[in-house]
Amino acid sequence: MPQQRIVIIGGGFGGVKCAQVLSSRLRGADAELILFNKENHLVFSPLLADAVGSSLNLLDVIVPLRQLLPRVQCRTEEVVNIDLAGSRIEFEGHDGQSRFLDYSHVVIACGNISNLNVVPGMADHAFPLKTVGDAAVLRTHVIEQMEKAEVCDDPERRRWYLSFIVVGGGYSGVETAGEINDLVRSSLRFYSNIHEDDVRVTLIHSRDQLLPEISPPLREFARKKMEKAGVTMKLNARVQLATGDGVGLAGDFVKGGTIVCTIGSTIAPVVARLDTPKEKGRLLTEPDMRLRGRVNAWAIGDCACIINAHDGQPSPPTGQFAERQGRQCANNIIGTIAGEPTRPFRFKVLGQLCSIGGHSAVAEMFGFKLSGFWAWFTWRGVYLFKLPSWSRRIQVGFDWAWLLVFPRDLSCIKTDVTDRVTHAHYEPGDYIIRQGEPPMSFYVIEQGEVEIVRSSPQKPEGEIIAVLGAGNFFGENALLSNQPRIASVRARTPAEIVILGRHVFTSISDTLAPLKQALMQAISRRSASFWEERPEAMETLRHFTLADFIEPPPQPLLRSTDTLRDVTQVFADHNADFFYVSGDGLRLDGIVTLTDLLRAQGGGRHGTTPVTEFMTRNPATITQTDSVLIAASAFREHGLKFLPVVTDQSSRRIAGFIRARKLMASVLQLAGTRPPVPGPS
Ligand SMILES: Cc1cc2nc3c(=O)[nH]c(=O)nc-3n(C[C@H](O)[C@H](O)[C@H](O)COP(=O)(O)OP(=O)(O)OC[C@H]3O[C@@H](n4cnc5c(N)ncnc54)[C@H](O)[C@@H]3O)c2cc1C
Repeated sequence: MPQQRIVIIGGGFGGVKCAQVLSSRLRGADAELILFNKENHLVFSPLLADAVGSSLNLLDVIVPLRQLLPRVQCRTEEVVNIDLAGSRIEFEGHDGQSRFLDYSHVVIACGNISNLNVVPGMADHAFPLKTVGDAAVLRTHVIEQMEKAEVCDDPERRRWYLSFIVVGGGYSGVETAGEINDLVRSSLRFYSNIHEDDVRVTLIHSRDQLLPEISPPLREFARKKMEKAGVTMKLNARVQLATGDGVGLAGDFVKGGTIVCTIGSTIAPVVARLDTPKEKGRLLTEPDMRLRGRVNAWAIGDCACIINAHDGQPSPPTGQFAERQGRQCANNIIGTIAGEPTRPFRFKVLGQLCSIGGHSAVAEMFGFKLSGFWAWFTWRGVYLFKLPSWSRRIQVGFDWAWLLVFPRDLSCIKTDVTDRVTHAHYEPGDYIIRQGEPPMSFYVIEQGEVEIVRSSPQKPEGEIIAVLGAGNFFGENALLSNQPRIASVRARTPAEIVILGRHVFTSISDTLAPLKQALMQAISRRSASFWEERPEAMETLRHFTLADFIEPPPQPLLRSTDTLRDVTQVFADHNADFFYVSGDGLRLDGIVTLTDLLRAQGGGRHGTTPVTEFMTRNPATITQTDSVLIAASAFREHGLKFLPVVTDQSSRRIAGFIRARKLMASVLQLAGTRPPVPGPS
């Protein structure tokens, strides 16, 4: 090991500046500089929104670290642990194996990571904007939405494709909304089927004004200018949930096919694992940026909580601060090695700049306030100057000059993002798939219920033909036959769905025999339905209401505190095939059938085992207002002899049950058909 080995974790604004200063000041000394970063480049995040809006090429917003730092050992590896007491880091090598490295000094500059879990459903449905990969995916998505809108005949759906929602009115939210608005509106002349009124860009912010860091007149200017350019502002509005259809606010729902989330961040896992004093997850430091109580461990940038000696306030998580901290941390490390005193971090903010779209910006620099075109010109000049290499400065300058003459580039590289396993949350009424769409994925219901809705010339508004519950799947038929979807599927209750991309589905279903068998059974059950083979019986079904078949719930109701012994007694004393379990005597919590009881007894359970351990939880149900057609489909789908009826899906209050045999017999009698053996039994 050389006399000094300085390890920097993180190649962002803070880490890079620290490495640059150390490498120039320690040139010729017996010192080794190693920088670990998960990616091989620095992301110039203030320009990410420009990349989304096609004002810049994607590669222009990143700079390769080894070309930027020629005298630093750059390792594209993730550090997983820091042993502060032993002065050693653990990192994951190229082969996935753990490796260790001792250090003389360590600088923790890991930044933070996006955390979309701040709002229910956001992680499933929103786009983050933190990495260049995020910018690439979002840019592609925005252009794809325009392409879909262009060929869509349904005006409502077209408006949905062209509705973009940006959550968060800070710098990144404002810049992203401005860029998406500019990209879409300035490209309309290339899309003959899209009208300007179809486009809607909405910026949602929880406070009463945008850009809290900027003075009130400039905030007002930004809001008015953006509204004039076509951005709808929703201020004082807090997003409460995100779904596939849009976002829910208190008492309002904003529909849109694209949600961009610029709020919410959390600390990097390696920082979370460190056992050292923290403030809201950020590493607390001494005034000179050493970790509290440590002599050779330093923290800078977004992951650190550093008091600014200039005003006594914690430094904000901005690139401007991270860079200054990186510079001074390097100087303090060199001072420590030389046995000199260190200096506390002190920095006076130079200014604030934010581009708001439409060749306009707001800027506060050295006490001067600027807005409009000249602020935008200054914004571009400052960022051009701040880019860390001359090659990037020239490229970015060229891209910006290009846009003064030529339109924004609308080509998009198709990334196979759907071909994977994802997880999504849907609220009641959200469409998961739509009739007529090409088959792309296979879906498994983890929680909740969905309804299958089919439109026909007789019922263009659609008719619910079946309800599926937890454990069921859908989407297999269209995928296997490669035909457009023959029905829509929408959430009936809040639903958690696992989604498998086409290729994942095909390879699993080809190799996993039991899945293949289950799929074939479902296809034959769903396509060669008894009812569809007998249209007269199906027509007859429409003459009945569910109330004609509902019987009172079997008595007594079991309580959730009942044991296996109690339940056995109930079955012995009462003549029923099943009993409901309800904690409060109203809500349906589960069902115990004779089969459940026999299985519990055969499984050697003790007589004191509570019923909640062997009942069927959240069984498939229908509601009082459902049609008989749905009940019939549910019988076939679930292979049941009876079906619980509840008043509604949210309260799941017990209303009774219906029997398959009774329903079939009545219908067939009325249709004048000879009764065959009923399907579900
Ligand atoms: C869209 C957007 C726009 C922004 N606009 C502005 C702006 O206009 N002005 C401004 O001042 N600030 C802006 N910011 C904020 C600014 O980007 C951050 O404050 C700044 O990047 C923080 O620098 P950092 O060095 O602390 O961390 P980062 O720049 O986030 O870098 C951290 C690096 O550490 C790496 N890393 C993390 N954990 C590990 C590990 N365990 N092992 C190896 N590597 C690891 C990461 O991969 C990352 O490369 C913006 C941010 C975003 C997302």
